[in-house]
Amino acid sequence: MTYSTESHAVRNMGRISAVIGLVLTALTVPAGDAEARRTGNVRTQVIDMVVIHSTGGPTCDAGTGKPIWVGAGTLAENLRQIEADHKLGIHYMIDRDGTLRASVPEDQMVHHVFHYSGRSIAIELINEGDGRDPFPDAQLASLVKLLRDIKQRRGITRDGIKRHSDLDHARLSCDRTQRRKVDPGAAFPYESILDRVFQP
Ligand SMILES: [Zn+2]
Repeated sequence: MTYSTESHAVRNMGRISAVIGLVLTALTVPAGDAEARRTGNVRTQVIDMVVIHSTGGPTCDAGTGKPIWVGAGTLAENLRQIEADHKLGIHYMIDRDGTLRASVPEDQMVHHVFHYSGRSIAIELINEGDGRDPFPDAQLASLVKLLRDIKQRRGITRDGIKRHSDLDHARLSCDRTQRRKVDPGAAFPYESILDRVFQP
């Protein structure tokens, strides 16, 4: 997984919301970590953005301290991993064959992009994110359908649909010559997807 983390989860959260969040957590997380990640955090901002990610991307290897590329993985293992994560989460994940899986409900906030998680919905595409791995038509068709639905329900504008790489320009801590977030990568047909979502 190649998400950004945010350490100010509760910064913008009012006192009442924080209390509600604690109560909700207490009520809805009787089981393990996986349950916790299918429940997000209380939203305090209006949703006006959707952020598109790929599962593959660069990171720093915890063992060697060297940059490595995390591969795309399968939908099942990516969902299992993100839903077991103590901090990060995702709203939707789309497999190469177009299979769409929902994780945390949209009206709950998950950490998936530095600074913008509070106002955004997170969509993860199974892909290497390396600019070479092609996004199959079925996967893109499923994405377009989902984006059109979100746009209609939430009034998202064309400018509100972002790639993770549009929002995070920081460098890898283990290699300052490399950007840490380049997903979904150059093979993702961004403008074409926007055209399809916003065509009348
Ligand atoms: Zn990402």
